[in-house]
Amino acid sequence: MSTEVRTTCPYCGVGCGVIVTPESNGQVKVRGDNAHPANLGRLCSKGAALGETIDLEGRLLAPEVDGIQTDWDHALDAVSQRFRAVIEQHGPDAVAFYVSGQLLTEDYYVANKLMKGCIGSANIDTNSRLCM
Ligand code: SF4
Repeated sequence: MSTEVRTTCPYCGVGCGVIVTPESNGQVKVRGDNAHPANLGRLCSKGAALGETIDLEGRLLAPEVDGIQTDWDHALDAVSQRFRAVIEQHGPDAVAFYVSGQLLTEDYYVANKLMKGCIGSANIDTNSRLCM
């Protein structure tokens, strides 16, 4: 027996309602929620493919540096050291942040503050520009 779960598509600000049905094989079926006022049952191609994103195969589940698994402290140290080296050699416009469109407003503020206020470059954008 499966239980339907009413939830929201996480991909964009439209916030379409989806109904997720777990299946016995670990997969899920996703369909638009006819009762949801944002989409009245319709989903775009990204929302319609939500069920295909549940699988863990191919996902990076722990930080890696140069292909070797490490902990977050070492991974973040490596990132900051390489950013610092590039900025020292080529200036702040030699680096960029490409961040998630799924960030919360507060997270997005912090990322912008770091790039624009601390590093000194306007090179920050989100995947929203590509996926929308
Ligand atoms: S428009 Fe597409 S991506 Fe945005 S919430 Fe609706 S189904 Fe998801």
